[in-house]
Amino acid sequence: MTNAIQLHQVTAGYRDTPVLQGLSLEIEAGEMIGILGPNGAGKSTLFSVLSGLLRPSSGTVKLNGIEVHRMPPAERARTIAVVPQELDVPVPYTVEEIVMMGRISAIGRFSSPSDEDRLRVERALVYTDATDIRHRPLNELSGGERQRAIVAMVLAQDPRIILMDEATSHLDLNHRLEIMQLVERLNRDDGVTVLMISHDLQIAAEFSRRLILLDHGTVVADGTPSAVLTEDSLRRVYHCDVRVHQDPHSGGISILAAPRLPAPGSGKGIHIHTLGGGGCGEAILRRLTLCGYTLTSGVLNHGDKDAEVAGALGTSTALEKPFCPISREALDEARKLARNAHALVLAPVPFGSGNLANLDLLDEALAAGKPVFIATGFENRDYTRNRDAVARVQALLTRGATLFQDVADLIPLLPTC
Ligand code: ADP
Repeated sequence: MTNAIQLHQVTAGYRDTPVLQGLSLEIEAGEMIGILGPNGAGKSTLFSVLSGLLRPSSGTVKLNGIEVHRMPPAERARTIAVVPQELDVPVPYTVEEIVMMGRISAIGRFSSPSDEDRLRVERALVYTDATDIRHRPLNELSGGERQRAIVAMVLAQDPRIILMDEATSHLDLNHRLEIMQLVERLNRDDGVTVLMISHDLQIAAEFSRRLILLDHGTVVADGTPSAVLTEDSLRRVYHCDVRVHQDPHSGGISILAAPRLPAPGSGKGIHIHTLGGGGCGEAILRRLTLCGYTLTSGVLNHGDKDAEVAGALGTSTALEKPFCPISREALDEARKLARNAHALVLAPVPFGSGNLANLDLLDEALAAGKPVFIATGFENRDYTRNRDAVARVQALLTRGATLFQDVADLIPLLPTC
């Protein structure tokens, strides 16, 4: 059977930003799928690629077996439609006119709407509870009313695949559930394939039989809601603690931000020295600052992303010249900063010969009886010629250093006052 959607090794992005990285997906006709992932994961970019707005730099995107960029516009409109978060309409078109635009590909540019077109528009207005606002200009409506009009336009278009890009986020609870039920009905009764981006994990779990979790432009989990929404995968991707509970009777999943997130100010009086580079330490620097820890960092290179973050947060940092290996002077400066720290933290930094000397600071901290915390996955970030970093980090672990997965995992391990 031909898949409704087939992506094969798709790489796509914008001029300076590669986003999707070799993404492959197969979606059967009639599936209803929640697309999840943190901001910037590539969810909207995936929709742009699917709807033919963005052409991949490599790989293929097929809808019903046909490459999307080879489809004539009218066929594409009959096949796929996006319900966006917002629709900018500079002309004061009424809701009814906007919904009729959903029929353009069926009507053709030089014909007038048929009875069938009018019926579909009417039905879309009724389904979305938009008959009362049909004569009002779209740009005078509230966010929720506008959203219902946009959903109505897509319903009138009558596509076989609907992509919903956080399409219910402006709606109040009642209308949100109504639109979700409507989409579910289209999916169940008419076999319309639905992909919906949602930040509401619970709604996504409730209405989808399959969830796809994206992070950094790749699929990190793909399966049933209970297989995808695990505490571990959510923590890894969203970098925060959550509790997932599955009701044994209904099978319903509830997701709560975990209560063990530290209170602001809980790190007061504790000094942590951080070692990072290239942006890998950003989340650690930000979260520990918010919790009130006193931070120092380095050695980092001038102009490095972590150095910029540390500078913006007012963190004292030992700095080396741009692109230069760590010098003895810079290491001494970092030593002075680290000397007063209660603990040292090694962020998930890639190691080369130029920054290996930072590990001296961790050796010295352990020798002085201070706790040392090391981000997991260091084995995959060692670019030194003889895997010197791996050998040195393993020695640190043997001497008592502790591994952590991410900043949410790290904070409970840190010393307290
Ligand atoms: P998501 O929908 O998961 O939040 P997006 O697909 O919107 O993620 O964005 C992925 C990355 O692409 C982000 O880093 C974003 O800043 C970037 N991006 C999105 N749209 C554009 C654009 N038009 N031009 C340049 N970069 C973009």
